[in-house]
Amino acid sequence: MTISYDKVREVASNLRFPTQAFINGQLCSAGDGDTFETANPATGEVLCKVAHCKAADVDKAVIAARRSFNDGQWSRAEPEHRKEVLLNLSRLIRENAFELAVLESLDSGKTITDCLREIGTDVANFFQWYGELVDKSFGKVAPTGDSALALIVKEPAGVVGLVLPWNFPLLMAAWKLAPALAAGCSCIVKPAEQTPLSAIRLGELAQQAGLPDGVLNILPGLGETTGQAIGRHNDIDIISFTGSTEVGGLFLRYAGESNLKVVGLEMGGKSPFIVLDDADLNDDLIEHAAASAFWNAGQNCSANMRQLVDARIADEFAERVAARARKYKVGDPLDPSTDIGAMVTRQHMDRVTGYIERGEAEGARRLTGGARSGKGCFIEPTVFSGLTPEMTISRDEIFGPVLGVIPVKGIDDALRIAVDTVYGLHATVFTRDVDRALYLARRLPCGTVSVNGFSEGDIKTPFGGYKQSGSLSRDNGTEAMDQYLQTKTIWVTLRDAV
Ligand code: NAP
Ligand code: MG
Repeated sequence: MTISYDKVREVASNLRFPTQAFINGQLCSAGDGDTFETANPATGEVLCKVAHCKAADVDKAVIAARRSFNDGQWSRAEPEHRKEVLLNLSRLIRENAFELAVLESLDSGKTITDCLREIGTDVANFFQWYGELVDKSFGKVAPTGDSALALIVKEPAGVVGLVLPWNFPLLMAAWKLAPALAAGCSCIVKPAEQTPLSAIRLGELAQQAGLPDGVLNILPGLGETTGQAIGRHNDIDIISFTGSTEVGGLFLRYAGESNLKVVGLEMGGKSPFIVLDDADLNDDLIEHAAASAFWNAGQNCSANMRQLVDARIADEFAERVAARARKYKVGDPLDPSTDIGAMVTRQHMDRVTGYIERGEAEGARRLTGGARSGKGCFIEPTVFSGLTPEMTISRDEIFGPVLGVIPVKGIDDALRIAVDTVYGLHATVFTRDVDRALYLARRLPCGTVSVNGFSEGDIKTPFGGYKQSGSLSRDNGTEAMDQYLQTKTIWVTLRDAV
């Protein structure tokens, strides 16, 4: 879809901001009437005040979710019915994609181009893909003798709490909600406090699509209050969380101190982009290197910020990536020609700027980039060369547009440095030699290895982390359904009929 800046501004100025929680099929205020502000990080302007849900609101939503789960209208509905409702929702998202994208761009500082692609294509596709999976998922029959029949069936796991980050607000909601709803679960969603608006609209659209009351509840709020109340609730069966490793750890603690709910975690990363000496240093490689670090202003869990490049080509590589970085257009997220929008908040921008200063103080060489002064939260794409593996910016997840080149001496040096991290989400390998590519792919302890191109895979391929980047659960692919399903064995003892 081609869009004009004028059209985007016109839609932005006429937007209605959704400000309430969505519980049991109704928009409502928080029980105690409390609200919090959400702002546009590109201008600093407060957009609106949103309901701040507390433990009592979480209780109300869980009671509605449990009732809806037990009455079976969704959890035991015919597969064709669940499919039809999810396909309706997918269509409604496509129809409302432009408005949703403008809402999300204003709330998050993400570019309108990214928001439109993520919502109009990816989010809608998720509900379609999982909707279509519902009536094509089969159970198993175990091999037994004639004396028994053993059925292995999958059942919806119950009431699930989905706690989301701010970097891909509606896309992360879809990654979790589409398979959870397809599985037949009832859901409590907490969007990030910085970006609650698009998720609330999704609740309204889901109801329009025919989802029964109570099956989907959207509870905006803060981590310490709403998030913790979900994590500690004794009648939530499953948590699926995406966010920082630190908060992921809190959810394990909440589960241990409450009902031992199952916790699925998708967390941070510090992913390597490995370039071996035989790789073609062509424009395609440079484009992938830059995109891997600067996509979504670097606010991406799989950002390949540690670029491990063979020492023989590292200088040329760094210069060329820096030249590419200077060409990105940083600015108003609502402008369709903008490549890099605003950092999500001033506080986050200051944190990223702190890392840039730390990199220089520790002796890395800044080739381009840095923070921009002014009202909005903007950082130019930043490239450092001459990093050593011990430097802070080589080790910490920065979550901003900061790329660092670490020279390495051959394939095993690259592997040694790549694995020396607490994270294990993603890695990219560039080489012309398939044996060397697979040597690395098999040994890198991470959930996704991308060869000769930066990619997270797609809707059909599982995504998740090793080590402190994740638990055994996976988003995407048929694997995502497993997070929201229980496995039951039905063992039938058979007697001779004659
Ligand atoms: P975050 O601070 O961990 O927040 C994630 C969610 O947890 C938010 O909804 C947050 O609420 C909530 N939360 C915060 N403190 C909490 C507490 N004490 N108890 C319960 N809930 C709490 O992460 P973020 O800054 O939004 O997102 C960035 C992180 O997400 C990065 O580390 C990134 O790598 C990771 N991420 C991972 C993936 C993946 O698939 N592996 C994808 C995207 C992002 P508030 O918003 O109110 O703080
Ligand atoms: Mg906001």
